[in-house]
Amino acid sequence: ISPVHVIGGGLAGSEASWQLANSGVPVILHEMRGAPSNDGRAITTDAHQTDDLAELVCSNSFRSDEWQFNAVGLLHEEMRRMNSLIMACADKHQVPAGGALAVDREGFAQAVTQAIHTHPLITVVREEVVSLKNTDWDSIICATGPLTSQSLSDVILELSGEGHLSFFDAIAPIVHTESINMDIAWRQSRYDKEGPGGDAAAYINCPMTKAEYEAFIDALLDGPKADFKDWEHVPYFDGCLPIEVMAERGRETLRHGPLKPVGLTNPRDPLVKAHAIVQLRQDNALGTLYNMVGFQTKLKHGAQADVFRLIPGLQNAQFARLGGLHRNTFIQSPKILDRKLRLKSLNNEGISLRFAGQITGVEGYVESSAIGLLAGRFAAADRLGRDMMAPPETTAMGALINHITGGHLEGGASQSTFQPMNINYGLLPPLEAPKVDENGQKIPLKERGRAKKRLMSLRALNDLNSWLDESFKKVAG
Ligand code: FAD
Repeated sequence: ISPVHVIGGGLAGSEASWQLANSGVPVILHEMRGAPSNDGRAITTDAHQTDDLAELVCSNSFRSDEWQFNAVGLLHEEMRRMNSLIMACADKHQVPAGGALAVDREGFAQAVTQAIHTHPLITVVREEVVSLKNTDWDSIICATGPLTSQSLSDVILELSGEGHLSFFDAIAPIVHTESINMDIAWRQSRYDKEGPGGDAAAYINCPMTKAEYEAFIDALLDGPKADFKDWEHVPYFDGCLPIEVMAERGRETLRHGPLKPVGLTNPRDPLVKAHAIVQLRQDNALGTLYNMVGFQTKLKHGAQADVFRLIPGLQNAQFARLGGLHRNTFIQSPKILDRKLRLKSLNNEGISLRFAGQITGVEGYVESSAIGLLAGRFAAADRLGRDMMAPPETTAMGALINHITGGHLEGGASQSTFQPMNINYGLLPPLEAPKVDENGQKIPLKERGRAKKRLMSLRALNDLNSWLDESFKKVAG
């Protein structure tokens, strides 16, 4: 069997290599860190500190491990059931962190490095890959992460087409729709303009009085801002200014920009003109998530929820993702990848070029590793002449892959506003919150949200097991 080439020995590349090798497919893993550069010093990135594979560049946390009530905990559990190397090493090098899974970062990365280096089917080559097409490689997984080297970024840009590669994120917060107070907010598009589906009520609008607007501006200006590291110096594009930078330009700037109160009428108070209006735009096809239009921000995460909950209608908002601005190379996956993570434009040229990890537009250590796992399994199935379907969208794995590759499908991300995303329950098909428990006991109102998450997690693991059984039967058959 000829080898699959994996580029990038980070979280996704290590996991992909492990999955391939354990399926019996040889792997050549190319990692640039540790290779000598032209000036003789070892190549590295702006964030990595070592040559270890799967180095954690920042926090040592894999976030919540509670699979019953937390979507990332659910993803952990699904990955464990799929023989994930990243999860096995994380579990082995766990440090106390309450309900979270935090790891001893050195122990963790060294364990992954050791497992990869000693696997008989994996060869690690320390080199920077600068070409994806002019080689004799017919199956490639590109897992070069948010800090992909410049030369390779240029190649990816050329292959994927202008406008399909982003170099930094200006992320606006995303809110769980059910946490928006619709007794205050209302649905309407500006000037009742119809969207592509003929929907003239595509936005959720939150009205502000003058006093509320002034208090909000004060909180924005006073809120603690995150500092940029040197390598994060990115130019602001005018269309993408952080909201607090806009507010610094003048207290009225937002009222004439994203918060302008024109073309919208509050049905509860049609004669009273709002002083400013915050708009939220649907973020996924299920309609379970809405993003705050124009709210990309450098406010520290801890401060964001407090400041944004000053907005009428969002007092109890639950955030699926907070805003941010940082360097992040990612492709427009919903447009350019097929359902098996392959670059569509190369499929006819006999090259399977898959992408995996953060570069596909997922966000976070666990999500990056999960996409690495799936890319590895897809590439292995191809090599071995087997058919493999993506996991069902009711699973965390399936929801994640649906988000990044299913732009045209229910549950997929919008093709025009695609932004990196953590796993969250809003990406899974919704369920009604249960009113009674398994024993027929009434569940108090405030506990129903938690009970719903548990049901969604149970459904996910059940569906994952059936999918794994089915896949196993296919292989055995
Ligand atoms: P990486 O783990 O970055 O792996 C990519 C690998 O590819 C690297 O080893 C790199 O050296 C190699 N590479 C790049 N170009 C080439 C090339 N041309 N040839 C060969 N090799 C190449 N997520 C969290 O969950 N928690 C956090 O606290 C967190 N903090 C972050 C902080 C920073 C500064 C950044 C940039 C990201 C952070 N993330 C965090 C997001 C993300 O989860 C991590 O970046 C994660 O490591 C992504 O995994 P990956 O495998 O896609 O990429």
